[in-house]
Amino acid sequence: RTPLKNKGALVTGGSRGIGAAIAERLAADGAAVALTYARSKDAAEEVADGIRRRGGHAQTIRADSADPAAISAAVDEAAENLGRLDVLVNNAGGGVFGPVDELPQETVDTMIDVNIRGVLTAIRAALRHLPPGGRVITIGSVNADRVPFPGGSVYAMTKAAVAGLTRGLARELGPRGITVNNVQPGPTDTEANPADGPMADSMRGWMALGRFAAPDEIAALTAYLAGPESAFVTGASLTIDGGFAA
Ligand code: NDP
Repeated sequence: RTPLKNKGALVTGGSRGIGAAIAERLAADGAAVALTYARSKDAAEEVADGIRRRGGHAQTIRADSADPAAISAAVDEAAENLGRLDVLVNNAGGGVFGPVDELPQETVDTMIDVNIRGVLTAIRAALRHLPPGGRVITIGSVNADRVPFPGGSVYAMTKAAVAGLTRGLARELGPRGITVNNVQPGPTDTEANPADGPMADSMRGWMALGRFAAPDEIAALTAYLAGPESAFVTGASLTIDGGFAA
């Protein structure tokens, strides 16, 4: 089953965690994949090597999503090297948590630059390439809808921003045959949020299922949105959170 055969996909922040799982899954579904990273070159190469060992096509591009020129160039490079660009997955991002009046300005700026401006920049660049049938998928967060702890306000703001962007863009790009969706994971076991981290037990307590997601589970929903079966889904924020928001 290769629903993404002959498709080109770009995943931002693909060197580990959810982004790596998405790149691997899209490649397994038949897409030629490009993945970006900001710092972790070796990890990114390892992900790409793994995909190639399994018979897929993968390449890496260094591009800090906080730098609009870099992300824009990365999108063009991916489209050129893959020969086409059908799927953009905005995954690069992260959160630093703390009291809103204590977070350093630089930390606030980086969250806004990467989680919001980086996403918008990648989409604007991708629109130079995406054909009818194209897919824009952003990895938001359930924290756009529910923040059951103090210290997550800036992160929640950035993830709510991409949920709004998704709705607006769906209206704009529907006539071009491009769907736009937002995946909102709950706690997912990655380096950024390990299932054995200091906050993990509290998080499990807020969830109906009482466990973290595996990155592959988030990748499976993303692959559905990237594929032909999701053609009627657009403007949606799809929450996949083990009941965190229930
Ligand atoms: P990780 O920190 O484990 O991985 C982040 C990935 O993104 C790495 O490949 C990293 O590469 C890359 N990255 C980070 N910053 C940048 C940047 N400025 N430019 C380019 N690449 C970058 O994070 P997760 O896998 O946990 O999270 C991925 C996404 O999922 C994020 O948007 C996050 O907000 C969201 N999310 C995560 C949840 C979780 O519980 N894990 C829950 C809900 C949402 P490098 O080292 O090279 O920077």
